[in-house]
Amino acid sequence: MKLFSSTSNKKPSRRSFLSRATLGITGAMLATNYDGLAASIERTPKSSAPSDLKITAVKCGFIRNEHSLFVKIYTNQDIVGHGQGVDGVYGTYHVVHHLAKNHLIGKNPLNINRLQEEMRRGGLFKGAQAGMYVCVMTALESALWDLVGKALGLPVYQLMGGKFRDKIRVYCDTAGSRLEPQEMGRRAKEDVDKYGFTAVKFDIDDRQDPNKLDLYNWSVSIPELRRMENQIAAVREAVGEDIDICVDCHGRFDEASGMKIAKALEPYNLMWLEEPVPAEVPESYARIRESTTTPICGGENWYLTYGFRHPFEIGAVDVIMPDLQKCGGLGEGLRIANLANTYNTPFAPHMVASYLGAISSAHVCAAVPNFLILEWQIYFHENEMYKEIVDFEGDFLTKDGYIPVPDKPGLGVEINQEAMRKYATPGIPFFE
Ligand code: MG
Repeated sequence: MKLFSSTSNKKPSRRSFLSRATLGITGAMLATNYDGLAASIERTPKSSAPSDLKITAVKCGFIRNEHSLFVKIYTNQDIVGHGQGVDGVYGTYHVVHHLAKNHLIGKNPLNINRLQEEMRRGGLFKGAQAGMYVCVMTALESALWDLVGKALGLPVYQLMGGKFRDKIRVYCDTAGSRLEPQEMGRRAKEDVDKYGFTAVKFDIDDRQDPNKLDLYNWSVSIPELRRMENQIAAVREAVGEDIDICVDCHGRFDEASGMKIAKALEPYNLMWLEEPVPAEVPESYARIRESTTTPICGGENWYLTYGFRHPFEIGAVDVIMPDLQKCGGLGEGLRIANLANTYNTPFAPHMVASYLGAISSAHVCAAVPNFLILEWQIYFHENEMYKEIVDFEGDFLTKDGYIPVPDKPGLGVEINQEAMRKYATPGIPFFE
């Protein structure tokens, strides 16, 4: 039986059959459906259509002990994206303008991943594997997310696929390593009681420790190890059993020493021992990890997802901590987190940036399942500069040890350029 006739000899496709059948069945309802379609089109944001948004300029500032790079990306629609990179050096200004000129100016910022990949591939013989080049690329990529979020009216976590959680647990990087054990314990307790942190971190590598063998030797001496153990014992005693404690060595020991430190700290139930050995030797991480029940953490000095692949393959860490202001970008952070997830490894980003960096990281932390905890700095509470250099709505500081994930379009925090000016590094053009 013929269901319909056709003036064409072409065999009707399944799609045209369905369309015609639908029209036949619902002919009387066509007007109503058309009204519904019109309403749907009306509800669809116009900004989701291809845009003629174009990048017109990129400017930057370099502040805070020659450490922090801030960038702004300008467009032909007066939308400006803000981003931060860390651990760059003086040359960042020139790298920003090199990348802007060759890969960003005149381009549509909506293609974040493509622009990031073009910057990376364009620098394969200019240092795009690690270090300053990747730091600058990270700041620019982060500003693109902010820009696109503002253009589309969406918070960055939404662009990343949505959020697993509404607030981000942070640990407080609390104090230096040159403290008497009782003082270290007192400070830990004070930070927990005063600000509500549920986790704290201390550095225990002290280059000035008189018991070090010498400045260049990377072996831990017996008295040095005893000092470390006494410090962390005092912290555990002060904060009780329910607060997490992290310990950072900044990669300053050899493998046997890393094993001794991890073993000595086993009774204190650490959340992790961070970078016990140099980042350049991930095999040492894996062997230390095999030797102890203390969880081993690393990653703040590995770059791009490529840099994390080998450590994962050899089982180097229990917890991964990329720095999202220098690992290649916020999208790169997502890729590293998702790679970590396939290795059953929790994601705990390093963060020594600013409130802009903290919130940028928080969007990524919200958007991945395996987030554990994010770094926060006690100097945010104690140094007014960190409040001055950013613009934001709501509370600057954490609430009960958590950062609420912002819902504003973009990242939700911007650079306060005029307030930042007085911290600019002399000799480097400031947003010019
Ligand atoms: Mg560290």
